[in-house]
Amino acid sequence: MSETRSISLLGATGSIGDSTLDLIRNDRANWTVRTLSANCSAEKLAKLAIEFEAEIAVVGDEACLPELKQHLAGTGVEAAGGREALCDAAARSVDITVAAIVGCAGLAPTMRAIEQGNTVALANKEALVSAGEVMTRLVAKHGTTLLPVDSEHNAIFQCLAGNNIDDVRWITLTASGGPFRTKTWEELDAATPSQAVAHPNWDMGAKISVDSATMMNKGLEFIEAFHLFPVELDRLRIIVHPQSVIHSMVEYRDGSTLAQLGPSDMRVPIASTLAYPARMDTSCKPLDLANIGELSFFAPDEERFPATRLARESAHAGGGTPAVLNAANEVAVAAFLAGQIRFTQISALSARTLDNYAPPAPQTLDDVLAVDAEARARAGEMLEIA
Ligand code: NAD
Ligand code: MG
Repeated sequence: MSETRSISLLGATGSIGDSTLDLIRNDRANWTVRTLSANCSAEKLAKLAIEFEAEIAVVGDEACLPELKQHLAGTGVEAAGGREALCDAAARSVDITVAAIVGCAGLAPTMRAIEQGNTVALANKEALVSAGEVMTRLVAKHGTTLLPVDSEHNAIFQCLAGNNIDDVRWITLTASGGPFRTKTWEELDAATPSQAVAHPNWDMGAKISVDSATMMNKGLEFIEAFHLFPVELDRLRIIVHPQSVIHSMVEYRDGSTLAQLGPSDMRVPIASTLAYPARMDTSCKPLDLANIGELSFFAPDEERFPATRLARESAHAGGGTPAVLNAANEVAVAAFLAGQIRFTQISALSARTLDNYAPPAPQTLDDVLAVDAEARARAGEMLEIA
């Protein structure tokens, strides 16, 4: 890259945040960092803000602002806290915003970055799943470039380049199957949080790790793909591919299938968004196919892992239903991680919340946030009687 580009990173202290900043660190001269945010993690955020000479550091949780201010005193980095401050910082104009907050909590700031017309590299799938057309309409209205960071969607995006979407026969999302791919229902029922977050191929935040174990991650990605790539829902498929070498595939009507392969390292898809439409170096290990030896594929088992079915049905229902699914799943995953419910109750709670609440289609961001809040409340109530 020839000229300096400006970047804001929402969710700087997480796993995607770490990977993004590693790429920026190795390409330092080409980047100006404006906003770095976290929920709290004030000390880590302050350290990063100082290292990357950020313009502003923001904590979503206002209670963490005094600590952030203390760490940033005398550094020249602005400190801010609270939901509004986070949205305002996200609305600052930059060349690229990396949206890497986890959960629907990232929706409002991501929408502000879209509105500003910043190119948005989207990792925060829950935001797109919840807002759906409300987000894609805003993207179209402001002529924003939305680049998928999620490895599957990034793969599909690359496989679609130079082709006509009308020529697509299938889009196939690959799924590793997670740490419990071969477990029986009884074993799933007894699975602990520490087993669930130990993903065989990827090193990720706790929530997405649990989502990978339930396969809800693939369910959310199914809905994400539907919004990113305009094909009919029945052209979207999921296949289990335990090695996570093929990150997804597009089959065209002439019978050609294009696939994107790479190491299981999020720096690869992130780099492709940061440098888009060019390429940049990464220090990732090259793909060693001879060492990998074999690639295998299996049909998903929706008896043991009902989450992909719930997501497909939610996508078909449309409107506010995916936001309900996402909210219920966020509540359920947090409860599982806190030891309140068993692993198999995660999808069950989402299913019950979906049965209990069928909201009208949201038209605005506030509508989406209202559906999200109501679904959380209802899932929370069911948790108490679970
Ligand atoms: P993580 O838990 O490691 O990090 C989340 C970040 O969001 C942290 O910086 C945290 O401080 C911030 N955050 C959390 N709650 C917040 C709130 N209420 N308000 C403001 N900030 C908040 O998560 P992650 O694994 O980096 O994932 C981030 C997003 O990227 C998720 O949507 C995930 O699905 C998606 N994603 C992650 C990976 C991966 O490999 N980690 C891959 C694909 C997609
Ligand atoms: Mg993914």
